[in-house]
Amino acid sequence: MDIPDDANESTPIHCSNCGAFLGEWGELQDDFYRQARGTEAFDLRNGTIIKK
Ligand SMILES: [Zn+2]
Repeated sequence: MDIPDDANESTPIHCSNCGAFLGEWGELQDDFYRQARGTEAFDLRNGTIIKK
C-alpha cells in the first residue's frame, strides 16, 4: 500500500505495485482493526501490515 504521510479518513489508497484503488484509508483501517481484533498477531507500522 502507498500511504501518504498526511493521509486522513477519506484519502484514497492505491496499491504500491499496480496502482489499483484499494479503498479509503479510514475504511482500510477499519478492516485492519476488525481482522486483527483480539489476535495481536498483526501490527500496522508506517502503512505496512506486519505479521508478527
Ligand atoms: Zn496491486
